[in-house]
Parts: sequence; C-alpha cells; structure tokens
Amino acid sequence: MNKFYCTRCKNIFEAEGIKKEWIDSLYGPCWKIVAKCPLCNSECDEYRASGSSKKEKTLPSCGCSL
Ligand SMILES: [Zn+2]
Repeated sequence: MNKFYCTRCKNIFEAEGIKKEWIDSLYGPCWKIVAKCPLCNSECDEYRASGSSKKEKTLPSCGCSL
C-alpha cells in the first residue's frame, strides 16, 4: 500500500495506486503513481513524507532516463 495526498480534501489515504504513463511535450515519456481519493474521487499524487527540512525543487516526477 502506498500513501497518497488529496490536495482538494487535504486528506492522506492509503491505496494500491496505479501507474499512470503519459508523453510530456517537454520531458518526453513520464510516469507517476496515482490513486483515486475515497472522499472526492479525484486523482491524487503519491504522498511523500519529508521528515527532514530538505528543500525540494518542484520538479515533475518524471521517469525519464538521461
Ligand atoms: Zn479528495
């Protein structure tokens, strides 16, 4: 089970998740794990708990190999 975060409900939930693949015009083939929110049924991204206060750049979660 993975954790997902719904930005609409601000709800963290656990789900199996599905791999979503798409072709980005800028980055090429990309993928991420998404799941449907049990409350509002919208597609949610994986929740990444950041224990430390590392600064994260808002890069797209892209599976492109360089
Ligand atoms: Zn929701």
